[in-house]
Amino acid sequence: MKVAKFGGSSLADANQFQKVGTIIKEDPNRKFIIVSAPGKRHEHDFKITDLLIQLGDAFINKEKYKSYYITIIDRFSKIISELKLPEQLTKEIEDQIKSIMESDLEYDNMMNCFKAIGEDSSAKILSAYLQTLGLDAKYVNPKDAGIIVKNDKNGAQLIPESFEAIYNLREQEGILVIPGFFGYTEDGILATFSRGGSDITGSIIAAGVKANLYENFTDVNAVYAVNPSIIKDPVEIKVLTYREMRELSYAGFSVFHDEALIPAFNAQIPVCIKNTNNPSAKGTMIVANKELNDKCVVGIASDTGFVSIYISKFLMNRELGFGRKLFQILEEENVSFEHAPSGIDDMSIIIRESQLTEDKESIIVERFKNELQPDTVTVHRDLALIMVVGEGMKETIGMAQTATTALGEAKVNIEMINQGSSEVSMMFGIKSDGLHRATKSLYEAFFE
Ligand code: ASP
Repeated sequence: MKVAKFGGSSLADANQFQKVGTIIKEDPNRKFIIVSAPGKRHEHDFKITDLLIQLGDAFINKEKYKSYYITIIDRFSKIISELKLPEQLTKEIEDQIKSIMESDLEYDNMMNCFKAIGEDSSAKILSAYLQTLGLDAKYVNPKDAGIIVKNDKNGAQLIPESFEAIYNLREQEGILVIPGFFGYTEDGILATFSRGGSDITGSIIAAGVKANLYENFTDVNAVYAVNPSIIKDPVEIKVLTYREMRELSYAGFSVFHDEALIPAFNAQIPVCIKNTNNPSAKGTMIVANKELNDKCVVGIASDTGFVSIYISKFLMNRELGFGRKLFQILEEENVSFEHAPSGIDDMSIIIRESQLTEDKESIIVERFKNELQPDTVTVHRDLALIMVVGEGMKETIGMAQTATTALGEAKVNIEMINQGSSEVSMMFGIKSDGLHRATKSLYEAFFE
């Protein structure tokens, strides 16, 4: 049994729905289908979810919302008519939006209901379309699928007991089309996962029904070894482990929602990233363990937007509780850190720029100075991180040397190096302006 999830670009218009229909029809093992809301049809287009958020915002704040409403309904109506489905489906979407507007839900809950319309409507349209292809398909609401969650402002969290109910879906006949991105609380309130969260639904269903494979259909042939906007036609990755994927998506690979890996990872379900526009391409498999071969680096990921706070204090290594006090300050200021490479007398704390506003920075620096009595505290913005990722690195001699030589040749100064204890990745902190050069040079060193 397979779970297949189709992302926004796979359902952007009627033509894409048709491709999805063909893919599902082709393989009778594709029993559980998870869908996103229609995404962008071209670069300057809008994602339905973004339009729904704008609609919800305008409605809740009593601003003009009609134009969003019309754009959303037009998009769905076009898909429905081009697929030659009954017009009644469009009417149902309109009614659903109106009933949200007439409800007395409070802001966050109402907003979640608006956001969920995209996935919900995609699932209803797709199941109706599959029926016209002669398939025994039906729409299953996430509540009936057993997706019970806890509401959280950073995105709903699945209640582990849900897996039992989800397992029972196996008993149902035919193809089940389930909207991604939302679940329900025990009190029956609709709650959405974080953005991009249809991947989370796919992974939860795959884990719950104990699928043999979780296929994640998107618009690329494979996960590439490096960002294709930096290197043209980069190497396609055939097999990745969950840990490698996690490291790559952490540092900017946006193929997969990284939180989504957790349920599939825990249940050891293999994941395959495939292309709706080229389904015969093999794609990239993501598995728990793989055989290590001589290609020990699988990918190079990089991301900008980091800040480092450097603290030095003579004899820091002997001062009991120094680390605890430092991290407690960050916790009290509600800031999480990414890495903390350290020496005997100094430490750098790497934080995402989005977490550290200028105001927050002054508060933290002041508290570090007063409460830790360091010799120096300095802040460096414009930091980029490059991760060289591969499980095989721990077995291979000379990897760091290859990487540092490549960075040297690209005339890039390394501000910091960190190799996590798991040795799945090597991290280099550099100034953002050298990122392009550095990534290119590392790619040449490891892949060409
Ligand atoms: N439609 C939602 C979003 O745009 C969820 C998803 O596409 O996975 O975030």
